[in-house]
Parts: sequence; C-alpha cells; structure tokens
Amino acid sequence: MRRMDTQTHKKRTWAEPYKIKMVELLRMTTREERLVAIREAGYNTFLTRSRDVYIDLLTDSGTSAMSDRQWAGMMLGDEAYSGSENFYHLESVVREYYGYKYLVPTHQGRGAENLMSKILIEKGDYVPGNMYFTTTRLHQELAGGIFVDVIVDEAHEPESTFQFKGNVDLRKLAALVDEVGANHVPYISLEGNVNMAGGQPFSMANLRELRLYCDQHDIPIMLDATRTIENAWFIREREDGYARKTVREILREICDMTDGCTMSAKKDALVNIGGFFACNDDEVYQKAQNLVVVYEGLHTYGGMAGRDMEAMAQGIREAVTEEHMAARIGQVRYLGQKLEAAGVPIVEPIGSHAIFLDVRRFLPHIDQDEYPAQALAAELFIESGIRSMERGNVSAGRDPVTGENRRPRLELVRLTIPRRVYTQAHMDVVAECVIDLYQRREQIRGLKMVYEPEYLRFFQARFEPIA
Ligand SMILES: *Cc1c(COP(=O)(O)O)cnc(C)c1O
Repeated sequence: MRRMDTQTHKKRTWAEPYKIKMVELLRMTTREERLVAIREAGYNTFLTRSRDVYIDLLTDSGTSAMSDRQWAGMMLGDEAYSGSENFYHLESVVREYYGYKYLVPTHQGRGAENLMSKILIEKGDYVPGNMYFTTTRLHQELAGGIFVDVIVDEAHEPESTFQFKGNVDLRKLAALVDEVGANHVPYISLEGNVNMAGGQPFSMANLRELRLYCDQHDIPIMLDATRTIENAWFIREREDGYARKTVREILREICDMTDGCTMSAKKDALVNIGGFFACNDDEVYQKAQNLVVVYEGLHTYGGMAGRDMEAMAQGIREAVTEEHMAARIGQVRYLGQKLEAAGVPIVEPIGSHAIFLDVRRFLPHIDQDEYPAQALAAELFIESGIRSMERGNVSAGRDPVTGENRRPRLELVRLTIPRRVYTQAHMDVVAECVIDLYQRREQIRGLKMVYEPEYLRFFQARFEPIA
C-alpha cells in the first residue's frame, strides 16, 4: 500500500480521493412542506421521510457511498446457505487488518453486541466502558449487567480541548474493581473514537496502561471497533511516536492489545449493512458461533448476504488507506472550522465523523427537560431540510432505578457526515444554515414528549412544541 508523503500532505489541502461515476438527485422542499413533514414526524428527525430531506446528516451508519470495486464485489456474491466463498474472504481480511483469530458475522453492530453481552455477562455484573453507546449499553443491561462510565472527565466537557477524550480513567476503573471485585467485571467495553463524546479517540498510551491493569486483574478488553480506523488516524496525528506509522499498522496495534471486538461495518467499513463479532478465545468463539444461529443466521453469513460480505471485505481495504482517511477527517474538519469561525458553539476538538453542536450554549434558555437538542434538530430541518439528530436528554433515556430523565452533561445535536457522499459545497450550505439558526436562536422553543417508547426512545419518541 502506498504511504502518503507527509510533506505533500502538510502543504496541500485534502481532496476527495475519487471521482464521481453515478449521482443521486436531491429534492428541494419548501418551508411549508417541511413544517408539515416535521409535525407528522412528531418533531423527531428519525421519523421524517428521506424524500423530505435535502442534505442528510442523520447518521454515518450505512450511508456511505460504495466504490466501483465494492459494487463489482456485489456481483461475486456466493449466496450459498453455508460455506459461502465471501465469508472466507471476509474472514481473511478481518484477520489481516484487525488481527483477531475468529470471526462471527452479524447483520449489524447490535447483533454482535447481543451475542457478546449474552455470552460474557452474568446477572449483576458490572460493565465499565469509556462512555456509553445506546445499543451497546442496552444489550449489556438486557443481559443483566450494570453499565459504569469510566471515561476521563474531560469527555463530559464540550469545551475541553483535551486531545484524547476517549481515554479510560484508570482511577475510576480501579475504584469500581476494588468495590465490586474483578470477578464481577466480565470485561471492559472500550470504544474507539467515542461517538457520544463527539468522535473522540483514546491514546495508545492509555490503552497500554489499561492492558497492564486488565492483565493484573484478569479482565478482558472488548473493543467496540466501529470507528477504530478513525481512532487510529488521530493517534497517528497526535501521539508521540506514531507520525511515521500507517493507519493500518496502528489499527492492528490497537486490536492486538484487545481480546475481541464488536463491529458495526456500517461505519468505518464503507458498507450499507453488516457487522461482526471477533475474538481470540476458543471457548467464547464456540459459544458465539452457536448463539449466532439463534439470532442472526448460520455462522458463515450471520444475517448478511454473500454479496454484503464481499462488499465489506473490499470496504475494509479501502477504509484503511491514508487517502481515504485524510479526506474523511478533512471534510468533517472543514465544516467544523467554518462553524467555529462564526462563533457557533461546538464540541472540541473536532471529531472524526460528525460536528456536534453544543446545545447548552446554543440554547441556554431551554431547560433540559424541554429537550433543547431535539428542538434544535427539528428547527434545523424546518429551516433548511438538513436532517441531524439529537444526542442529549432524549438519547440518554431514564435511569433504570429512579425512572428520571438522565439529564446528561452533554446536550448535543449531531451533524453526521456520511462517507464519500457529499461535497465541500454541501458543507458550505450546511454551515450557512446552522449559522442562520444561531443568529436567531432566541426564537427557538422547547418541546414536550407526548409518546415515549420503552426501548431506545430517541428513535421513535414523539414531541409537540411547548405553547
Ligand atoms: C452504530 C454503532 C453501534 C451499533 O451498530 P449498528 O450497526 O447500528 O447496530 C455500536 N457502537 C457504536 C460506537 C456505533 O457507532
């Protein structure tokens, strides 16, 4: 693989390392149409229809544009029920790039989380993690576990410019282990480029310390590998001793220090659907290989078509290239810097996959129980047809013990950038629209929740404006 010349990289701006072969036309709507659409969607952007959206920044999950090579791979789909050739190809690619011994494919990330949680967690166990992710924590809880946040304090401070906000606070972890005993901690859940903190990386130094601690206490490290290629990029950029390593080498170094992973291939791996569980332990693998049959499908497809596995194998190869990652991070940073220059409050440092608007500072006049981030996402849609999502009080859900809203420290709107989909001109439009909203922010009102589903309420909850 070609190494990027770092001198050239410094002097020149990033550019998309591809040209466009096929386009999808966008639909513009009027403000009136969008008002009707958001009302019908209960002021929840997850419930709006994609036909009513102009620029879709809801998520970077499964929204990537695939390459011609990935599409060509789709034609090589071996749709045999068992032993598909594409499975063995994917297995070899995962072994090569991520380095784990065993692969169990799943339909997406949460399928892998379900398997892992059921296999490793016993009722009453504690599962420490560097901040929660919605589906990850839910599967831990459904398996009888209790999630404990052990991320560094800086991660909860949107204004902190700490470079490794994804780091585990070893003192918090040690305090938990001392209190409950290592035998009640089945593993530590370590997420690369922590999504809920704003797409923030952990450092290799932190992972090394964590490994040492976990070895001393016989606690496995299970990686949420969903955005670990992006984490590897930041390590290369920011951490001493890594400037001359490739993203690919750093990814392997991370995985080699962990015991297994769950993966949503819908993010880093540039596919529209897919995921996997991977590990090194024979016994855990055997259990996962058996359990996957119950929830996903046979262990050589796990809920994916053969063609999906082929596209994923090729997607992983493309995702670890320097060119791809430079453009990925470059585009997100381009948008973030435009907003910063206009004084719009965003989470610092700018992360890898999204810009997070800091709604506590954007809408200080709205109480958190009136869901200011939800209100801002709805307002941005009405204003511009740009679809974003809430990452605040609605996403955090209720405390299982008290039943109260969790009122998290971070109340954010996420503008998530799909991979290889939009151009720099689209980013300009997004910046203009957000800046317009910021200038008339006093006019924005809160919402009340009128329907609350039991699980992962942010997906389907409905709201009405407060009169
Ligand atoms: C998306 C995501 C998941 C869940 O994966 P799905 O493919 O959506 O089921 C888990 N962890 C992280 C960090 C994610 O971003």
